[in-house]
Amino acid sequence: MTEYEQLATLLFPDVRQTVADLEQQFPPRALKDGARVTRFAPSPTGFLHIGGLFSALISKLNAATTGGVFLLRIEDTDKKREIDDGVSEIIKGLTAFGIDVDEGVIGFGQETGAYGPYQQSHRAAIYHTVAKQLVAQGLAYPCFLTEEQLAAIRDEQEAQGTPIKGIFGKWARYRDADFETQKALLAEGRPYTLRLRSPGREDHRISFDDLIKGKIEMPENVQDVVLLKTDGIPTYHFAHAVDDHFMRTTHVIRGDEWISSVPLHIQLFKACGFRVPKYAHISPIMKEENGGKRKLSKRKDPEAAVTYYAEQGYPKESVLEYLLTLANSNFEDWRRANPTAPQSAFPFSLKKMSVSGALFDLTKLVDVSKNVISVFPAEAVYTGACAWAKQYDHAFYSLLAGDPAYATAILSIDRGTPKPRKDIAKWNEVKDYVAYFYDDLYENDYSALPDNITAEMAAEILTAYKEAYNPADSKDEWFTRIKALCEPLGYTPNVKEYKKNPDAYKGHVGDVSTVIRVAVTGRRNTPDLYSILQILGTETVLCRLQTALDALTR
Ligand code: GLU
Repeated sequence: MTEYEQLATLLFPDVRQTVADLEQQFPPRALKDGARVTRFAPSPTGFLHIGGLFSALISKLNAATTGGVFLLRIEDTDKKREIDDGVSEIIKGLTAFGIDVDEGVIGFGQETGAYGPYQQSHRAAIYHTVAKQLVAQGLAYPCFLTEEQLAAIRDEQEAQGTPIKGIFGKWARYRDADFETQKALLAEGRPYTLRLRSPGREDHRISFDDLIKGKIEMPENVQDVVLLKTDGIPTYHFAHAVDDHFMRTTHVIRGDEWISSVPLHIQLFKACGFRVPKYAHISPIMKEENGGKRKLSKRKDPEAAVTYYAEQGYPKESVLEYLLTLANSNFEDWRRANPTAPQSAFPFSLKKMSVSGALFDLTKLVDVSKNVISVFPAEAVYTGACAWAKQYDHAFYSLLAGDPAYATAILSIDRGTPKPRKDIAKWNEVKDYVAYFYDDLYENDYSALPDNITAEMAAEILTAYKEAYNPADSKDEWFTRIKALCEPLGYTPNVKEYKKNPDAYKGHVGDVSTVIRVAVTGRRNTPDLYSILQILGTETVLCRLQTALDALTR
């Protein structure tokens, strides 16, 4: 046994399995050529950020469009930063947006897939097995520097202004410690971290092809970074290499704050004897502010938390649709050409992602969402609005749930037509949209009458309409009846004629119907008036016409 091997046994007396065993236990996946294995690997340290959802979506799309696997790994090696229900928050957040995982953590203490465990805190044995091999090969060593010594080194490097700060060169005091010294320190029970014996050189550079950012060149890593902390828990870097290798990740897609760590990661993969995965680093989602651009911030921007979208009542389809417009700039053209195609049919490409960071724009989200909801069937609008109201507006929920058929009929107006209305962007707008159909919510507003119509003129029209009103009319009959009201009252049924000869009339048929509209809905603009009258029913229509007449003739 070499001294390195003896040291490995000393450090990891309980590790019996070998890296070769792990290779067998987690074999390369039998997937078709080109299939990508991607993962979302959040730390459960807070709410799911929209940027997290974005990168999960991108990872998921990459797997889904190539017939691959998308997995969820929980990176919980930093217990200090972890929050109690962090894992459920992540899973809830992903599920709410339909980003289902093929493999990995799927619930509290629950996972699916043959490449687990998928929670880093349950993978100690795997990390230790790899760490043991690194020690046995002379690629890692125990470092006994204390917190105080490390702080002193930091101060010294700070004072000297050394360009690289960390443990390397002369500061790597235990890198070349002989076996006797190591044994003695271990026998004393001195705490140690396990460090990489970095093979890097300061004058070497590495380059790699980032699938989003293109070719990137950086200095090689020279630092003897920590692989295992004093408690045996791996650092993020080491866990990343081990996990993505044994989970057989082919494409590591993550935020670009990790780009500076790539030289280290590549070195780690190689030191472990693993094949380096492909990397794609996503630029952060940006927000425009005072003419400049800044990162969307957890602290300043409520829309940074994915829970914001559920609270506001954006359907998941809208948020995903919007994220796709941010992901690939050709998405919107594709959508125009394929208005009803499922999002999954979009030929997503990493290469078409923004290098500088996509700009997040709530106004745009509203527009996208209006389009998305406009093609929903009424039943889906009902279900969405109901689910939202149940949680955020109980009184409105009772109204909706009290008569599903009535609510669905309202939401059906002008829906399913080639040019559907685009009035609703989120479920919290439905209440206002349907308010006048419910006596509890309806508020009359006669100030909405057309500007050229006085109260007296309106009363005349309403008296005549009340007389003529026949709930049994078909739509055509109804309109014929409205037109028939016009001339005796001094209006023209012909809008063109009115435009030619405005002085000859009090107004045109549009004014007549607007008066009726305002009387029964309190609004100047609504969806199709005939449908509204049908749904409101005779009693309500007559009652509102009378109330309006009373008010206008007072
Ligand atoms: N746990 C890391 C994070 O939350 C994941 C980085 C990665 O995807 O590799 O930022």
